[in-house]
Amino acid sequence: MKLVAITPQFVELIPREIQDGVLYISEKYGTATHRCCCGCGMKVVTSLSPARWKLYRDGNLVTLYPSIGNWDFPCRSHYWIRRSRVVWSGPMSHKEVRRVKERDQRDINRHIKQGNARKAVDILNQPKINQLAKELPNKSAQHGLWKWLKDWWNH
Ligand SMILES: [Zn+2]
Repeated sequence: MKLVAITPQFVELIPREIQDGVLYISEKYGTATHRCCCGCGMKVVTSLSPARWKLYRDGNLVTLYPSIGNWDFPCRSHYWIRRSRVVWSGPMSHKEVRRVKERDQRDINRHIKQGNARKAVDILNQPKINQLAKELPNKSAQHGLWKWLKDWWNH
């Protein structure tokens, strides 16, 4: 069943078992997690960072920007979380999915390029890269990171 509202819960650590209709927010770790609002049960992880999602808080009303596009899930649901309400946008078309993926790729490239080369070397020399990849929102962004690093390394 499609949800029309979500309840924010501010936590330090995101619990392993999460409930429908709750947006778990860890400000400490800059991440928010919820179950897909369509009711399919898939877990949606949104990292709260300048390059990804922004969280606006007004008392117990939270807004996530931009929208949540679950194009990697079978449901392909797409919605906004605005002032703790779920505003449905209808499934994304293939064209929209492609556009969002391209935007992700651009964001990630920009994000990485803002760091300097030394930083990239640090990242390459440390298992930290796995952590960095995990923080990315989806497989295509992760793929973009690896590709960028490979290109940079072979440069
Ligand atoms: Zn879903």
